Amino acid sequence: MNQTLTDVLACPLCHGTLSLQLDKKDAIGPVDGRLVCSSCAQSFTVNNGIYRFNVTDAVQQDADGDTWVAEDFINLVPESGLYYNHAQWLERHLKYPAKLARLVAEYEYPHRIGAILEALELGDRPVVADIGCGVGYLLFHALERFRHLKPRLLGLDVLPTHIQYFRARQVEERTAAMIPILGDSAKLPIPDATLDAIICSEVVEHLPEPHVCFAEMRRVLKPHGQLIITTPNAGPYNLYHGWRGKIAAAFGQGDKGEGFYDAPVTPQELAGLLVAAGFELKHHECNIKVPFSKRVLQNLPANAAWWLIETLEKSLPGRFFGMNQVASAVKL
Ligand SMILES: [Zn+2]
Repeated sequence: MNQTLTDVLACPLCHGTLSLQLDKKDAIGPVDGRLVCSSCAQSFTVNNGIYRFNVTDAVQQDADGDTWVAEDFINLVPESGLYYNHAQWLERHLKYPAKLARLVAEYEYPHRIGAILEALELGDRPVVADIGCGVGYLLFHALERFRHLKPRLLGLDVLPTHIQYFRARQVEERTAAMIPILGDSAKLPIPDATLDAIICSEVVEHLPEPHVCFAEMRRVLKPHGQLIITTPNAGPYNLYHGWRGKIAAAFGQGDKGEGFYDAPVTPQELAGLLVAAGFELKHHECNIKVPFSKRVLQNLPANAAWWLIETLEKSLPGRFFGMNQVASAVKL
């Protein structure tokens, strides 16, 4: 099997080693073939350069008592198209006007993507996975930043369309260092103690039983491996979306919210999940104090909205007020 894959992919069912029966390869790597588990004999396909693993049909129960299988989530997420950055995502997915999307992305960058890249502490030739990578744009940011370290970057997502777009961009940019994986965060197709770092950005809130994913992420990290999480902060996030929905309804419009969030967690819940899974929390902050850029708010009539939000920010306890959480933890 291709040397760049033998040590980073494993059977998601039994964690046995995989052998590759290759039908076609190109300059980037394997294109078509089959992966066969040496322990349980289960086989998985490699198709158009994508490593396709089983999505679990296990039923999970969310905090409201509703039951989910992975397929339910796949069906809820709207088609995203290929996007290269956060501004494009806001434009296409949330239908923000182009200028507003640019301003918001610029405001949010240091708090989410920038914060993740800042938090990563990588040595030479690191193996890094983005669990729930979407179309993979974070990995392209990471490659740009850490190219000198010769990283190998695994991008796993449960949505076939996301991984297809990720693969399309990989082909376009001829980045052999990336491995596009269709798979499930509840059963990672990665051997034990393999990864130097995991990025898990805007994923936890979609998981009915996040502790299952946390246990898997801990399993596949090396000792002292890093886990970096971003996720909405349940309190301010739910408050904001509640009001946004009411305002939109008052003007006879539907809410442009994403609509497929399952259960955003509070900072206390996120810290609890990390500790319970066997991580040590190194850094945890809530940022994105306002859901818009300052420049947008300052243009509102008499700056009323801006004044209100600033006043709220000043009067609320600092540590956990903010729409977005960034947590960095290490495997104990
Ligand atoms: Zn197996």
